[in-house]
Amino acid sequence: MHQPTDALASPRFTGVRTFARLPHVPEIAGADVAIHGMPWDGGTSFRSGSRFGPEAIRSMSALLRPYNPAVGVMVFGNLSVVDAGDAPTVPGYIEHTLPRIEEFVSGIIDRGAIPLGMGGDHSVALAELRAVAKRHGPVAYVQLDAHHDLWDAYNGLPYNHGTFAKRAIEEGLIDPAKSLQAGQRGSLYGPDDYEVAADLGIRLVPWQELRHWTPAQFGEAVEKRAGDAPLFLSFDIDFVDPGVAPGTGTPEVGGPSADQALDFVRALKGRNLIGGDVVEVAPQYDGPGQQTALMAANVLYEMLSLIALRRA
Ligand code: MN
Ligand code: MN
Repeated sequence: MHQPTDALASPRFTGVRTFARLPHVPEIAGADVAIHGMPWDGGTSFRSGSRFGPEAIRSMSALLRPYNPAVGVMVFGNLSVVDAGDAPTVPGYIEHTLPRIEEFVSGIIDRGAIPLGMGGDHSVALAELRAVAKRHGPVAYVQLDAHHDLWDAYNGLPYNHGTFAKRAIEEGLIDPAKSLQAGQRGSLYGPDDYEVAADLGIRLVPWQELRHWTPAQFGEAVEKRAGDAPLFLSFDIDFVDPGVAPGTGTPEVGGPSADQALDFVRALKGRNLIGGDVVEVAPQYDGPGQQTALMAANVLYEMLSLIALRRA
């Protein structure tokens, strides 16, 4: 079983950086979950920098310990987890990058592991969804994000981090009837911007509404739509208040605290998580304590906890 290096025997600041000090195992062999990086920011519309997200998340994830007391589960111990390394990307060429990420993620799925990705800007999720849909068919999809990423085009072109979710629905990778997006806020292009979600059949819960929900209500809303269907969870770090997580490309004021955001992820307990990611971590804009990368590492830890709880 693949386990992290024990911090009681070897200090956390030592060793080569991998996620949670897990072994770097590109071949994946026998792992339940494979954490992987997607160093890519060619799909960003404002501040670039998330190509360095995976290394920043790996660095702060050295703090993670095996037991998660918030949900009562041994994460490492119940799960065999590896850091599979980074998917190949091609700077400047999104049409060449997405198929390479898709092939990399397909390799993880084919070896029987659940892929959990570290972005990278959100356009990488289109590649991940192509890979998971190849295995599972159209998946239930939950997106926690300050944006819905359902816009049709930027500069007249179809692929970027603000359009990928619409592409994923058009390509039949997501079953919109089983899916939900939450946390959207900030200024829009027009009064009808959020209506595109309903037009496409996906439920959208803007932050103005979600902020009045308990995490349990959120969990029930997801359960009602997704049931036990294979579910992909995509967590855009800009879902979190940029006062807490400033290291991202398109921050929007307001949003959940670190505690609230983690509770919304924990509320997905019991769902059939078959993949997930944390995207849009751009460490150049992070605070001196690397709090955005720390938040991202802990969101991935909560996703691992969901998988461990379901298997325990
Ligand atoms: Mn996004
Ligand atoms: Mn966003």
